[in-house]
Amino acid sequence: MIEFVPRGTHNYPAFVCDTCRELIVGPGNVVWAVKVPHIKSDVRETSPVYAAHRGRCDRVLEKWLMTQYDDEWMPLWEEIGEFAAGLAHYAKQELPKNGESQPRRQLVKHPASDPHQELPDFS
Ligand SMILES: [Zn+2]
Repeated sequence: MIEFVPRGTHNYPAFVCDTCRELIVGPGNVVWAVKVPHIKSDVRETSPVYAAHRGRCDRVLEKWLMTQYDDEWMPLWEEIGEFAAGLAHYAKQELPKNGESQPRRQLVKHPASDPHQELPDFS
């Protein structure tokens, strides 16, 4: 998750691993899930976006995430640097229209349990 992390008198934006709660410095992925639509719909359902160290942490996070939704959902991931670059880019520029007259609406469906309410035990 993107969080402000305090150091001294400052707060620094950082990616914090949603599995082990340590800062992600180096290889990491963002992980989320989307509901696969059966029919063409103007509403897309997605989970919140989580972050994890690459390797054991992102595998554990993806496994946990898929326990939060039914089998109509599928996990997705992206390298954290690519995600951060896209986030910075589209904070200053409109998203491309891709030929759509109206953007699809998106519903963010939160998981049944929240891994941030207490330190997770993914052992
Ligand atoms: Zn981790």
